[in-house]
Amino acid sequence: MDSKMKAFMDGVRQHNPGEDEFLQAVQEVVESIWDFYQQNPAWQKASLLERMVEPERVVMFRVPWVDDRGDVKVNRGYRVEFNSAIGPYKGGIRFHSSVNLSGLKFLGFEQTFKNSLTSLPMGGGKGGSDFNPRGKSDMEIMRFCQAFMAELFRHIGPNTDVPAGDIGVGGREIGYMFGMYKKLRNEFTGVFTGKGREYGGSQVRPEATGFGAIYFVREMLALKQDDLKGKTIALSGFGNVAWGAALKATELGAKVVTISGPDGYIYDAEGISGAKINYMLELRASNMDVVAPYAEKFGAQFFPGKKPWEQAVDIAIPCAIQNELNENDARMLIDKGCKLIAEASNMGCTAEAATLAAAEITFAPGKAVNAGGVAVSGLEMSQNNMRIDWTREEIDAKLQQIMTNIHQTCARYGKEPSGKINYIKGANIGGFVKVAEAMMAQGVV
Ligand code: GLU
Repeated sequence: MDSKMKAFMDGVRQHNPGEDEFLQAVQEVVESIWDFYQQNPAWQKASLLERMVEPERVVMFRVPWVDDRGDVKVNRGYRVEFNSAIGPYKGGIRFHSSVNLSGLKFLGFEQTFKNSLTSLPMGGGKGGSDFNPRGKSDMEIMRFCQAFMAELFRHIGPNTDVPAGDIGVGGREIGYMFGMYKKLRNEFTGVFTGKGREYGGSQVRPEATGFGAIYFVREMLALKQDDLKGKTIALSGFGNVAWGAALKATELGAKVVTISGPDGYIYDAEGISGAKINYMLELRASNMDVVAPYAEKFGAQFFPGKKPWEQAVDIAIPCAIQNELNENDARMLIDKGCKLIAEASNMGCTAEAATLAAAEITFAPGKAVNAGGVAVSGLEMSQNNMRIDWTREEIDAKLQQIMTNIHQTCARYGKEPSGKINYIKGANIGGFVKVAEAMMAQGVV
């Protein structure tokens, strides 16, 4: 590591002690863009990178709510408004027991570059709570969402900050939060994306992250004159992202053989297709956070407490949570013949796993692979602002075009002398340029 870069990272580390996930995300971006950044003295003079690693605003608040037994519970709520240089803050809300400030800062930071890659005018933000939806009743979920929004409403708005879903936040939670926002503000605006179709939601938004990931993998394969037909795929997770990816991968002729939950993973040698994919929605709706019932229902294998990365597959797509695939997992996958790892979860691989996969096979990072979700959120914002509703075909065509463009951007900035594409570098520089130029144009603010 060059000494100037080391000094920069030491400064960030001192300034953000103990925020391991945030530091991991910053380190990856800084390593990728450093040489490019050094070539522009005006950026350095403007302390652009120093400003970029500092969120514009962080809101932290108490969320008190009453459970079904009448007991008062207290959770912590957050919104990290990271960067608004190219548009209103935009990014999901995560409800998960692991949520803390470091995690949300990493996600908001990543979101800034991801949103820039989509080419749509969206800044970066992320929010959430350490509230754990597992086992909660529908009324408890509603009361929590309302309590969360009772504070968040004053910090967001259709031209200020537009949240969406993420882990633990789907259509139901967005409905409850949107309803509360509308009541408190007395206005109907596109302040959330991922809304129900009946009240301003876009076609294809639920499928968009998974579909986009598979469109991106299709582009990666096409570059090697290859395609998805007959490929075996290991997915992790069983939520919205894995569901969309399974649908599109199966449609394009691949065979998805695994999904997973906190309880272990399912291996289905016949492929997870048709009604089995829809069953993922039932599992999710049960609020129990388990995949084991799939094995009983469809006669597949269940491996308790294990991750799917021990199976022999052509392609692995982590779809669950950050750092869910480590160096040992990557080693196992590669040794058993895996040729491509694409992160559909944000920072799904540890830094070591990503480095290994990028060196030995083909690897693409989440901010490129999973940008389809927020891209369709951007299209939802456009439709809301214009008060129109594009068809499923129109949205799907735009999504495919956006994923193709992101792949081209990665190739443009990440092509190495050998001809191999360094997708980490390509995505980071590609996402960085527009934000950097916008910040320079807007002065020191
Ligand atoms: N949570 C998703 C992401 O990580 C979607 C964000 C959005 O649609 O605003 O990109």
